[in-house]
Amino acid sequence: MNYPWQTTQWQYFCQQKTQQRLPHAIVITGVDGVGKRALANQMVASVLCEQADATEACGQCHSCQLFIAGSHPDHILIEPEEAGKQIKIAQIRSLKDKQALTSTVSKWKTVIISPADNMNINANNSLLKLLEEPQENTLLILVSSRPYRFPITILSRCQKLVLTAPERTVTVKWCLQQGDFDRTMIEQVLPIAKGAPLKVLELLETEVLSIIQQLDTDFKTLLQGSANPIYLAKEWQKYDLSMVFNHLQLLIKKQIMLNENASPKRYWAIYDCIIATIKLISSSNNINKILLIEQFMVSVMKQDSNHNTALNR
Ligand SMILES: [Zn+2]
Repeated sequence: MNYPWQTTQWQYFCQQKTQQRLPHAIVITGVDGVGKRALANQMVASVLCEQADATEACGQCHSCQLFIAGSHPDHILIEPEEAGKQIKIAQIRSLKDKQALTSTVSKWKTVIISPADNMNINANNSLLKLLEEPQENTLLILVSSRPYRFPITILSRCQKLVLTAPERTVTVKWCLQQGDFDRTMIEQVLPIAKGAPLKVLELLETEVLSIIQQLDTDFKTLLQGSANPIYLAKEWQKYDLSMVFNHLQLLIKKQIMLNENASPKRYWAIYDCIIATIKLISSSNNINKILLIEQFMVSVMKQDSNHNTALNR
């Protein structure tokens, strides 16, 4: 069963499978929480399944049972050994060794690398060699929410599959079906989740709404010039920073729209500071959270404080 917003991509895959022209490598991209891994798993299960004619994995055969149990000998999952860390070259090298062996249970050999954008140059080169010499009946799926981090040499050897977040109404409807959630809460979280349904659910399980309220207040004091950056940095570093700055981006956009006829220069400058910080967060693995937040706050406070308009929400 795939998610309702993935039907087009899934049908395209099934069509390729039926016509026996599956690519050797696919890169699935899209924002966090749009179900990339679920789709990759579904594709892999489908090619490993012994009911080769069916597009959907049967879920019953020996191969399906092994895959569900996470112990299929012809499937390899490569993830960072520690969350947030890089995938090591040794992991890609051992993948190369295993790919040289013949499959045992299924006719196919499959690999999922997730997140695949988190590799150093040596690991990328090793992966590239693998992509340059594809073997018959192998499917390698790269999963990434940051495809801009891939070398073009890797991207150009993969079929690209972009999973976009569904329409707002589809996400809200789907989330409401998943549990006892409040529509207003879903709608509040939606922009922070960039419309990704699984991310909405994940955020609703956290204290995201109270964090948002706190951020609203903190940002207001920051704009008024009455914030204590050291205290705020200490508080904010407890939160998911990409969530924090995505929310600040929404707040400042709102502020720019509200003050369309006033002097919005200061807000645009702050908008720039937010974008620069978001870029830093997404491009680095080892960030000093406190330093990053403090630098952001100082750069905001440096902006023309003559326009001391409070953030009226
Ligand atoms: Zn099966």
